This record gives sequence, structure tokens and C-alpha cells, in this order.
Amino acid sequence: MTELLLNHLGGRWQRVHGPGTPLFDPVLGTELVRVDAGGLDLKQGFAHARQVGGAALRACTYRQRAAMLAAAVKLLQPNRAAYDEIATANSGTVKNDSAVDIDGAIFTLGHYAKLGDTLGDAMLLRDGEPARLGKDPLFQSQHVSSPLRGVALFINAFNFPAWGLWEKAAPALLSGVPVIVKPATATAWLTQRMVRDVVDAGIFPPGALSVVCGSSAGLMDALECFDAVSFTGSADTAAIIRSHPAVTRRSVRVNIEADSLNSALLMPDAKPGDAAFDLLVREVVREMTVKSGQKCTAIRRVFVPADMLDAASEAIAAKLKGVTVGNPRNETVRMGSLVSRAQLSAVHEGIAALREEAQLVHDGATHALVDADAAIAACIGPTLLRVRDPDSAIRLHEVEVFGPVATLAPYRSMDHALALVQRGEGSLVTSLYGSDAAALAAAAAGLAATQGRVHVVSPDVATLHTGHGNVMPMSLHGGPGRAGGGEELGGLRALGFYHRRAAIQASQSVLAALPAG
Ligand code: NAP
Repeated sequence: MTELLLNHLGGRWQRVHGPGTPLFDPVLGTELVRVDAGGLDLKQGFAHARQVGGAALRACTYRQRAAMLAAAVKLLQPNRAAYDEIATANSGTVKNDSAVDIDGAIFTLGHYAKLGDTLGDAMLLRDGEPARLGKDPLFQSQHVSSPLRGVALFINAFNFPAWGLWEKAAPALLSGVPVIVKPATATAWLTQRMVRDVVDAGIFPPGALSVVCGSSAGLMDALECFDAVSFTGSADTAAIIRSHPAVTRRSVRVNIEADSLNSALLMPDAKPGDAAFDLLVREVVREMTVKSGQKCTAIRRVFVPADMLDAASEAIAAKLKGVTVGNPRNETVRMGSLVSRAQLSAVHEGIAALREEAQLVHDGATHALVDADAAIAACIGPTLLRVRDPDSAIRLHEVEVFGPVATLAPYRSMDHALALVQRGEGSLVTSLYGSDAAALAAAAAGLAATQGRVHVVSPDVATLHTGHGNVMPMSLHGGPGRAGGGEELGGLRALGFYHRRAAIQASQSVLAALPAG
């Protein structure tokens, strides 16, 4: 029997007595560990987090909590090799792809440690300037933001077990709100290990950080009126969360990050072989292959001027051909596996759905696997498709294949290109590739209302830009419509979700005495 991972709830590590759900190595097919949340007293655990963890966190200033985040960074950093081993085994990722998750997590935590320090020794945040309520300036209204008096429940997706935890936990803990994380079962091991390391080091007060691995049953029922839930995953599960009585009846605050049909757009001024064209080709290939395309921000649709469809198809396909796929332990392998055989089936189904209206440009099935058995491993080569008429296409704009798959499509004019991007009905990110600053700015402004982020790649930032799919803690993550309507990160903006705004109407001397920064 493999190890049954412990859950940490109610301020203690808890062993449950269920059989456990096994987690697998998606390349070798071997069982790694098991998880089980059956029999946990969730009500009691959530109450402990609220009352004990929340009270202890709120007794600290922002600067003190920022110091806890900095201590967590110091603790996690030297354990990188152990986290990398878990990622290789459980997510099937090559070292570079595991680093996107693990180093991205530690970097984000470090960023919030620094930002939090700038908030100083305050207990609340002042929101704007005081406003007079009448003729006499003595009586005024000051808005303040105070940490939520509840817990933050995170229900996370399988693709970022490290970053998905810390990009949410950093702003929550900095705000003074205790965290309960429920990682996706398939890859829960890395999340559990990082929480274990931080909890056992006693960096945060008891009850500040909990982890529940296994079934999600009962988690939403345990939420009360001042709690918040932040969900990352599929649109179908998002709909279940949104319609739960915790949200509809108890006004639990909810943030949703769901599916997204992100785009890359080559501007009309680009020409085959010029800098912008090459930058698009490189970025599309990178986005298709990093983490085998299992990134919520990955490029799914590539729009190019109609007369460049063939050149773009050939250039991208030529690079994809050279991508080695297979066992991430083999150093010649550039792209590891998907997270599970179930995910592999979902990707095959998605490709079949797209192929009802698209032609194959590069077939992932042509990649022989390195050091991996195709009958066992959840590996698939990168697949590029092409649609000649994106106006009549439906699946192109609706089907998110969560794997190394993208579809090229031609456009006639800039207006047409922007309209095609909008057919995704709200995305996390669109990237633009061109050299004309005015045209790029106009396109970015035109897209901003329907995208969480517009990533503009011009030749002057060729070696500086941070990548279409990389989520930086200084920039917003989240998108409207299909993408879930959520907002995360964006520097200190992220703290808004974990604070409640109130107006305090009082004499100026009272307002001046508020413990607010
Ligand atoms: P999923 O099946 O929706 O699962 C997400 C999480 O929800 C998991 O922790 C899952 O637990 C849990 N869950 C399942 N049923 C639930 C229920 N009835 N009540 C409460 N929680 C429940 O999604 P996934 O397959 O892990 O992730 C892939 C999807 O996530 C993709 O579509 C991708 O677009 C999206 N995604 C979006 C972002 C973003 O930031 N926008 C980031 C990453 C992924 P179990 O694992 O135990 O079932």
C-alpha cells in the first residue's frame, strides 16, 4: 500500500481511515501516494481556521504577515529538488515545466512579501481620502478595507499544484485571512508537501493554513457568510460552485478562473520572416509545448493575415516537428506527458471535435515517444490545426483542448481580427505581434474590455517580454465571460478580494486615530 497523505485541518494533521484514492505517475502508470478526506469534521475544522487562525493573523500587522511570507520563501527555496521530484513523478513534467510551477510559486510568494512590507504596521487599509458629509468639515466619511472575518477556501485545478496554491495564499495570508486549500486530486501531492513543510516549520499561526486532499464533498457546505471561495477549474464545476447555497443564500464571496480560448494575433504589417512573424512563431510553439499545453493561459487560437496563413502554418509546423516527447526523466525530452490518461482521452476527444471543422497541419501522433510506452503513458505530441473560414467555424471559438493543441485561422482586416478574438467570449490573455506602435496600442485598447491581459510583443521587447502565458504577480490574472469573470494578482489589487470595504463616518479626530495605513 502506498502512503496515505495526511490532511491538515483544525490545527492538526489528521489521518482518515478510508481506502484512499491513488495518485499515479502519468508516464510509468505506477501508483505514488493516496489521498482521502472522508470522515473529516469539516465544520469544526473551518470554525478552528476562522476563530483561531483568523484571530491570530489579524492580531498581526501587514508588515508582520509579510515577514511570514518571506520566511515561507526561505523555507521552500532549499526544498526545490524534492518538489521537482514530486512534479516529475506526479505531473509528468520536464524540469523546465516543473520550474514554471514551483519557481513561479516561490517568486509570487516573495513578491507579496515585498509588497506587504510596504504596507507597514497597519491593521486596516485606508481606501481613498476622507470626504466631507456636510458644510462643516469636522464630520467626514473615510472608507477603510478590513480583512475578512472568515476563511478563504481554494478549490484548485490539477495543472499548477504549487503556483495555484501560493498565488492565492500569498495575498490571502498577507490580508490576514486563513486559508484552506483543496488541491485537485490528480496532483494533490505537491500542494500537500508544500503545506506540510510550511506548517511543520511553524511559520504561520495554528489554523492559518490547512489542506484537505481528496473529495470536495461537504467543503462548500462548510462555508459561512464572511468566507470566500476561490475556484480554478472547468466551467462545469464553476457552475456548481456558483449555484451552491453558500453563494446564493449566504453571500459567500466567490472568484472563478475557468476555461479560456486565448489568442495570438499577428498584426497586418508583419511579413513572413520578419521579427514580429518570428516572435509569433516562437511564442506559439512555446505555448503549445510548455507543460504540454496544460496552462489556462496557453494560446489556443492563432489569427494571421490571410496571405500569411501558409507561411505561418509551415513555420510553426517545422518547429513542432523537432519537439521530443516522452519520459521527462530522459534529458533529450522537451515535452513530458499530460497529467493523466483521463486527460489524454479528453485531449483526443477535443482534437476530434476540432477536426470536424479544421484540417491537420501537424499531427501530434507522428511523434514517437522517448522512453515511454504509448499504451501506458499519457503522452501526446503537439498538434496544429488550421481553419480556412473562421467566421463559420464554431468549435474553434468554443472548444478549449487542454493540451498541446492550437488552431490557426486567417483574417481579412484588423476589425475582422478583433471580432474573431471576441468570439472567444472573454479570455485570460491575447497576445499581439507587430512593429507599428500606434496600431498595436489601438488593438490593445480595443481588446482590453474582453481580456484579462493583453500581451504586446514588438521587436524592441523581443528579449524582455515575459511570455504570453506567464502570469506575473504584478499583472492581473483572470478574464471576463467564459474565463470565469475572476480577478487575481495584479500586485496589491489582489488584497481586495480578502478585504471588506466599509465607510466610517466620524469626527476628523476619530478618523485620524484609525489604525489604518
Ligand atoms: P475540474 O474538474 O473542474 O476540477 C477543479 C477542482 O474542482 C478540483 O479540485 C476538483 O476536485 C474540484 N471539484 C470537482 N467537482 C467539484 C464539486 N462538485 N464541488 C467542488 N469542487 C469540485 O477542473 P480540472 O480538470 O482540474 O482543471 C482543468 C480546467 O481548469 C481546464 O478547463 C482549464 O481551463 C481550467 N483552468 C483554469 C485556470 C484559470 O486560471 N483560469 C487555471 C487552470 C485551469 P477533484 O480533483 O477531487 O475532482
